[in-house]
Amino acid sequence: MHLGVILNRVFRTKDNPLFQYIVKYQNEINKLYFILPLEDLTDASEVKRNYYYKVVKGFVNALDKHDIQPYIVTYEKLGELAETLALSHVLVAKDIMSYHKEIYDYPHVKKAFENHQVTVIGQRVNHYFVPTKTFNKQQQPYKVFTSFYKANRQDLVHTPKKSYQFKQLSQIAEKGSNQSDLKFENNKDIEKLARKAWDDFLNGDIAHYDKLTDDVSQDFVSGLGKYLAYGLLDIREIINDLLEDYESDEKNFEAFIREVLFREFYYVLMTQYSETATKSFSEKYRNMQWSYNKTHFEVWKKGQTGYPIVDAAMKKLNRTGYMHNRLRMVVSQFLTKNLFIDWTWGEEYFRQYLIDYDNASNVHGWQWSASTGTDAVPYFRMFNPIRQSERFDAQGYFIKTQLEIFNDVSSKYIHDPTKYKDKLQEIYHIEIGKDYPQTIVNHKNSRDYVMDKFKQF
Ligand SMILES: Cc1cc2nc3c(=O)[nH]c(=O)nc-3n(C[C@H](O)[C@H](O)[C@H](O)COP(=O)(O)OP(=O)(O)OC[C@H]3O[C@@H](n4cnc5c(N)ncnc54)[C@H](O)[C@@H]3O)c2cc1C
Repeated sequence: MHLGVILNRVFRTKDNPLFQYIVKYQNEINKLYFILPLEDLTDASEVKRNYYYKVVKGFVNALDKHDIQPYIVTYEKLGELAETLALSHVLVAKDIMSYHKEIYDYPHVKKAFENHQVTVIGQRVNHYFVPTKTFNKQQQPYKVFTSFYKANRQDLVHTPKKSYQFKQLSQIAEKGSNQSDLKFENNKDIEKLARKAWDDFLNGDIAHYDKLTDDVSQDFVSGLGKYLAYGLLDIREIINDLLEDYESDEKNFEAFIREVLFREFYYVLMTQYSETATKSFSEKYRNMQWSYNKTHFEVWKKGQTGYPIVDAAMKKLNRTGYMHNRLRMVVSQFLTKNLFIDWTWGEEYFRQYLIDYDNASNVHGWQWSASTGTDAVPYFRMFNPIRQSERFDAQGYFIKTQLEIFNDVSSKYIHDPTKYKDKLQEIYHIEIGKDYPQTIVNHKNSRDYVMDKFKQF
C-alpha cells in the first residue's frame, strides 16, 4: 500500500500509536509519507495561535532529528496531496474531536479521504476508551457521569509502552516538504517540557488535588488539558503513571482520575450525539428564548461586568489562553444565567481563546452551566458570583493577580465593590463606575428572571 500518515494533533514522538502501527505493518507498506495538516487558526486569539505553531514547530524539529520530514499542508490541500502522492491508504487518529473546526474531526476527515478513493485506517491515539465499549447494558452511552465512572473505572489498567525505533520509520519514509506558506520559529522541545510539567505535578501538587483543587488562588491543578489537546502526552501514559503511584496517595490520585474520566465521558457523549455541539442536549430547552445582547456579551468578554471574580477570570483567559475549572464554571454561569446569553456564544469565545480547547469538554462544560446538558447543574442552583468569589478566592489573591486596582484592597470589600463603593472611595480613593465598573446586572433580579424562564418549560 501507499500509506499517508496524518499527523494531526498527535504531536509526540514517544508513545505514538501511529508510529507503532507503521512498524507493525511495515511489510505491507510500499511507500510511506508523513503528512501534517495545518489547522486554520486565523479566528483564534494570538496567544492560542502562537502556542499551536510552537507545538507544531517543536514536533517538526523533533522529527527532523530522526531524519523524518513530513509534508506540511493546509487541510484544504490534503485531498490534492493524496492524489499527487497516489495514496491508497491513510492512517488517521480516529479519536480526534474537532479541536478548532468541525472539519478537522475524524468523521469529516474520513469522508474527505474516501471522496478521493483513499481507504482510511483509524487508530486510537488521544482518548482512553473506545466509546462503544463504555456503554450500559442497553448498549446506550451513560448520560450521568457517576454511572459512567462507576462502570468504567475498573477498566483502567496498565498498558504497555509503544515500542518502535525511528530508524525503522525513517528508512522507509519518503521526504516531504513544507508546502504551506507558513514559517514558524521555535527551538524548544515542547514534548519534553510537557512531560516534565506532568512529572512535577505527579511529584508535587497532586498531593493537594482532592482538597484544594477548587481554590483558584493556589492553582493546584495539572495544566494537563493543553498537553492532551495537542497530543503531546498520551492519556494512556498518564493513566499508567497514576496507577503506578496510586497506593502512595489514593485519595488525591482517585480525585484526579475522576476528573480525567470526565474528559472521556464527554468524549463518548460527543461521538454519539454530535448535534449537541450546537444544540441543547436536553431537547425541551431547544426553544429557549436566550438573550443576544451584544453589549452585554462584549462587557463579559472584556472582563468589565463589575463582578471582580468574573472580570479577573476573563482577563486571565484573554491574556494567557487559560482559565481554572472553577472559574470556567463561574464565568459560564454568569454569561448564561446572569446575562441569560445563549451558551453557544460563550462556547465559541472559549474555542477562540482556550489553548486547551476540546470540543466535547467545552460544549458539555457550557451546557452544564446553562442547565441544558446531560447531568447538568439544575437551573435553580444558579451560582452567585459574589459567594463563589468569597468561597474560592477568599483573600482575593487571584483577583489581585489580574485587577491591579484592587492590589491594596481588603478582602472584605474586594468581592462586591458595588456594595462597598463608599468604603472603596473613602479608604482607597477608588470610584466605582469610573475606576472600576458598577455591576452590569443585579444578581437577585437576574436570578428571578432565570427561574421564571426555566419554569416555563
Ligand atoms: C464552561 C467550561 C468549559 C470547558 N472547556 C474545556 C475545554 O475546552 N477543554 C478542556 O480540556 N476542558 C474544558 N473544561 C473542563 C476543565 O475546566 C478543564 O479540563 C481544566 O480546567 C483544564 O485545566 P487542567 O488541565 O489544569 O485541569 P486539572 O484539574 O488538572 O484536570 C486534569 C484533567 O482532567 C480533565 N478534566 C478536569 N475537569 C474536567 C471537566 N470538568 N470536564 C472535562 N474534563 C475535565 C482534563 O483533561 C484536565 O486536563 C471546561 C469546563 C467548563 C466548566
